[in-house]
Amino acid sequence: MTFDQILGHDRQKEILSRSLASGRLAHAYLFSGPDGVGKRLMALALARAIVCHEQRGCGNCLACRKIDHQNHPDLHLLEPDGNSIKIEQVRSFQKDLHLKPLEASRKICLIEEADSMTVGAANALLKTLEEPRGDTLLILLTAHPNRLLETIRSRCQPLPFTRHPNSRIQAQLEKQLGIDSTESHVLAALSEGSFKKAFGKDRELYLDKRRKLLKTLTGLSPGSILPILDFAEQISADKTVLPDILEIFQAFYRDVMMILQGRGDNHLVNLDLKEKIHRVSGRENIASILAKLEALIEVRRQLDRNVNRQLAMEVLLLKLAA
Ligand SMILES: [Zn+2]
Repeated sequence: MTFDQILGHDRQKEILSRSLASGRLAHAYLFSGPDGVGKRLMALALARAIVCHEQRGCGNCLACRKIDHQNHPDLHLLEPDGNSIKIEQVRSFQKDLHLKPLEASRKICLIEEADSMTVGAANALLKTLEEPRGDTLLILLTAHPNRLLETIRSRCQPLPFTRHPNSRIQAQLEKQLGIDSTESHVLAALSEGSFKKAFGKDRELYLDKRRKLLKTLTGLSPGSILPILDFAEQISADKTVLPDILEIFQAFYRDVMMILQGRGDNHLVNLDLKEKIHRVSGRENIASILAKLEALIEVRRQLDRNVNRQLAMEVLLLKLAA
């Protein structure tokens, strides 16, 4: 991946390639921004440009290929071991930083999900940041810069990344996957500006499975409790998918709200479910939809606090079925 091959993020590309060309790269960067927007790709493109025999990240030379295969001796990737990056991991790469780079002009270390460093690991890393060496480059990646120690943040050059506009994601989906404009619209709207989400495992969830989920949801009635309990069990089964399912519910009720407020169909996320949205808006009003959207926001907050998932979903679905 060269800078040119990365979609969007023109300002970030320009900053990095200019600093590289003028020999003024920082010792440490903090790439922050939502998951799946291309922070890691950009970091690897920078690494390639640094080690490349042609000094541009050509992609063909041996050094570039080693970066692509992540077996370049001067590239270190630090990622969470389980839930966190541990002090032993930081110490082990620090030992290596004391040696001279083997093939490139610098040693490059990518720290993924840098906010997952334990306090011990963060404090150990601080030593490296406080005494930077000319032949090392640290790139910290995070979707949650506020969770990093202020002392770490202040020693890195910040480079924030933003979400991709829906139109860019939609165009790529149509080009690369050959899907129609309604499906690409739904996927782009639900992927929240993340290429990773739009092209990743969520695709099936956001297309077919979404339709099934919303069919079950809108078929629930407050008087029959068994289907509610079954559905709660079903959606709470997978902890990692649940937030995306809740996002699908939220987007649906926001669509209903749009119709109740008299906005046109072109504002909808679920363009393929226009009829259903109009039908549901016929039996709801602004106050009832607001209550449902609030219930969804509240339950997402509760999930962050590790409440019993199934119980929380039962309570939520009772409110949504009302
Ligand atoms: Zn190259």
